[in-house]
Amino acid sequence: MGLRRRISIYLISILSLLAVLTLVVLRWDSHQKALQLEQVEAQGDLRRLLATFQARTLEVNGTLKSWANWTELYDYFVERTPSFRRDELSVKALAVADMDFLTLLDMQGRVVDITEVPGANGDTPATRAAATYADGYPGFLRSVPHGRGCGAVKANLHIALVCLSPVLDSEGKGSPRGYIVMGRWVNDDMIRQVSEVTGIFFKINDLPAPPGNKKQQLLGSHMFVQEGVQTRELPTHLEMTYPITSLFGEQIAQVQVTWPRKHAQFADKSYDTTQTVVIALIVTVGLLLVLLLDLVVVRRLNQLRQELGLIVDSRRWTGDVTVGGRDEIAALARYTRELVAVVRQQVQDLKNLSQTDTLTGLPNRRAFNERLDHVLAQHVRQQMPAALILMDVDYFKKYNDTYGHPAGDEALQKIAQCLRTSLRRELDMPARLGGEEFGVLLQGVTAEQARATADQIRTALQGLAIAHRASPPLGVMTMSLGVAVVTDQDNATTLYRRADEALYRAKDLGRNRVAQAD
Ligand code: GH3
Ligand code: MG
Ligand code: MG
Repeated sequence: MGLRRRISIYLISILSLLAVLTLVVLRWDSHQKALQLEQVEAQGDLRRLLATFQARTLEVNGTLKSWANWTELYDYFVERTPSFRRDELSVKALAVADMDFLTLLDMQGRVVDITEVPGANGDTPATRAAATYADGYPGFLRSVPHGRGCGAVKANLHIALVCLSPVLDSEGKGSPRGYIVMGRWVNDDMIRQVSEVTGIFFKINDLPAPPGNKKQQLLGSHMFVQEGVQTRELPTHLEMTYPITSLFGEQIAQVQVTWPRKHAQFADKSYDTTQTVVIALIVTVGLLLVLLLDLVVVRRLNQLRQELGLIVDSRRWTGDVTVGGRDEIAALARYTRELVAVVRQQVQDLKNLSQTDTLTGLPNRRAFNERLDHVLAQHVRQQMPAALILMDVDYFKKYNDTYGHPAGDEALQKIAQCLRTSLRRELDMPARLGGEEFGVLLQGVTAEQARATADQIRTALQGLAIAHRASPPLGVMTMSLGVAVVTDQDNATTLYRRADEALYRAKDLGRNRVAQAD
């Protein structure tokens, strides 16, 4: 897989993971914050609601106080005068005081008298539940020092806010003869009013007392303490329930506040925006990173690869690596350039070495044969005349025998130098073909010129006068030469053969001479 593809896949994977993690964390965080905010606000609302109920209860208490310190009522406990009952404890008098019911209790908490404004359907639940009060008030009175208190009571599934006080004379003196209880129903009307005042939507659910629900010794005001609130999280609403504890310490109902989740919805909306922004940001950053990596790394590596590929594939070690800069890739390019230069030089050196004779420095047989192929091709193509001279030192074995092998080597080097100086034309190529045999390729020469050149060489060597006492008749080193002019029928083999035959003819004819092939 290409670097570009791999980098893209890795980056996309990492960034996707990052995006998912970021979004999960953001979502969780915004949800938590919204929830916290909602709970704080919802509890505040609940507090306000309870405070409103408390205020309603205090109203009852206010009315109750003026009734509780009333000498006529105080006396009524001793003598139940029907006129007082008719005039002062009437339904009408109660309605004027804006109360729903009034109960008189004796000192033991037993119901003595009860007046109740009938409900819309004529129902009088307080009267019907007088027996229940008979159960509750005595215990309450025993537990509360002065027989005073306010709270909720339940009568036949109806919840009422009630206050209770001992009845004294108008001066507030004398010992109490009984108690007065006044109350107001928490009916739909009251719920609607409270809802309107507080702006909180709630309802009151009946809560049947579980069997064995222990009555606690509680003050009536316990109802307004915000305890035991349960919050249920729904997608669109928070539902908070709060138990209402009665004056007698029983949980009799629960307030259920339904609180629209504005914050969660707002958080969801703002999260949607955040999500879009995060995704857009990560996609942009990803694209920029891919582009940047492409520009800084991938493209330059590709360029380096292509340029190096061209150099290696051509096997000629030419061409250049042009990737620039000052970073690691640039350093890689620089080292590559240097490496290519070294390889190029070594290839050249090897080539030179493989085509040069080490003893004399002349081209060797391999180089000579390459050139011969080239000359033959040119002859065919352009009718360029050419000739091959083969030469062999006379009695060289004897020279070695006489003067030693190192002297023989030295002589061979002198012969090579002699060849170089004898051949001045650019196109003439001398070579050592092996042992004491040399060859010369001539181009653009006639047969006569070739023969003349061969003779010049022979004369030049003889002129060097390298002492060779075993070489008769002159006693100096000489050579025999065979010349073959290239014909249209020639190939390398035939040309060699013809020149070789001429050389041997020269040997046969007495050495130190030139013979020409037919
Ligand atoms: P001819 O006149 O018939 O050519 O006689 P020749 O002695 O030259 O004949 P031959 O070709 O048999 O001998 C060649 C000798 O050249 C044999 C070998 O010892 C010698 N020789 C070949 N290569 C070298 C070399 O590199 N250095 C030296 N010193 N001698 C060499
Ligand atoms: Mg020989
Ligand atoms: Mg020889």
